[in-house]
Amino acid sequence: MEVVPGIHKVDGAWGGNVYLLDGGDSLTQVDAALPFNGRRIRRYIRSMGRTVSDVRQLVLTHAHPDHTGSIHSLFGDSGVPTLVHEADTLRSGSGRRLYYRGQLFSLPGKMPLCSRIPAHGLLADGAVLPHLSGVRVLHTPGHTPGSVCLLDEERGVLIAGDMLISDGKSFHRPVQFPGTDFRAYRRSIERIVSLDFDTVCAGHGKPVVGGAKASLERMLTGYTWALFPWRFIPRPVLRARGRGKG
Ligand SMILES: [Zn+2]
Ligand SMILES: [Zn+2]
Repeated sequence: MEVVPGIHKVDGAWGGNVYLLDGGDSLTQVDAALPFNGRRIRRYIRSMGRTVSDVRQLVLTHAHPDHTGSIHSLFGDSGVPTLVHEADTLRSGSGRRLYYRGQLFSLPGKMPLCSRIPAHGLLADGAVLPHLSGVRVLHTPGHTPGSVCLLDEERGVLIAGDMLISDGKSFHRPVQFPGTDFRAYRRSIERIVSLDFDTVCAGHGKPVVGGAKASLERMLTGYTWALFPWRFIPRPVLRARGRGKG
C-alpha cells in the first residue's frame, strides 16, 4: 500500500514492516522483515514499476531479526549498503556486523536467522539520508540501544521502527526484549512527540495516517509511567491494584 505519496508499505510481509521510500531515480528500503520475504518484497517493488536494482540503500530501524531476515536473499553481494546505528552493531574483522542483545551466535554463510550480516554504514543522530530529500535520522534508544526513527519533514511522516506498534488508529509500546531500557524508551518517546508529523509508519501493524501526533500524545497520557523493575504498568492494571490515582 502507498501510505502517503512516495512512501510504500510492502503488503503482507511477515515479521516487521518493510517500507520503500521513493527518491525519484532510486528507492530506499527500510527494514527487511523475517527470512523468506524476499520474493514478496521483489514482487511489491515490481508492482511499483521498479526493480530491486533501483534500491540504493537499506536503512535499518534496529538490528532485531524480524527486521533483517531477508537482507541476504534480496541484496546478497549486490553492493546495496546496509545502514544501521552503531549501538546495534559489533566490531567484526575490519568492519562491523549487526548485533542485538540476546543474540546467541552468528555464523558466516546464509543460514536464516543465524547469518552474520555486515553493517556497511552507520547512522548518526541528526544525519540526513542520501538519495532522499530531507529525511532525518533520530537516535531513539530504548527498544534496542541503536533504535532509530526516520523523520520525513516534507511529508510529515515518522518511520518509527519498533518504538511504536500501531493498529491504524492508536499506538502501544513493544514487548520487552533483552536490551530493552524503558527509561531510555520514555525519553525517546518524549523526544518524538515534540516533533512535527501527521503520519506514523510503525515497526508492526497498520500505519496511522493523519492525526498520528495526537494519537501518540494519547498513548503518553494513557500510561502511568511508573517504573517497575523492567516494565511500565498500564493505568487500568494499576487502578485494579488500587495504586493508580487519576
Ligand atoms: Zn519487530
Ligand atoms: Zn524489535
